[in-house]
Amino acid sequence: MNVYLDQDKCVASGQCVLAAPGIFDQREEDGIAVLLDPAPPAGRARDLHDAEDLCPALAIRVDDAQGTPATGDRPA
Ligand code: SF4
Repeated sequence: MNVYLDQDKCVASGQCVLAAPGIFDQREEDGIAVLLDPAPPAGRARDLHDAEDLCPALAIRVDDAQGTPATGDRPA
């Protein structure tokens, strides 16, 4: 699966780091999110979708590749 982070949208809330530690971190100087692993294993899908849903800036997009349906796998 692939994860995309738009740092220009990020407002440094830190929700992504709490939801998916090890995949997101925050810069020490301003708290802007950093994507540590843009292609994490499918086992982190739940964490990543939580991060995507919790991000107040809509700065995160998660792409379920590798055969997982893009729709219907979670409530809208
Ligand atoms: S949850 Fe969104 S706004 Fe908050 S730090 Fe992560 S990317 Fe930035």
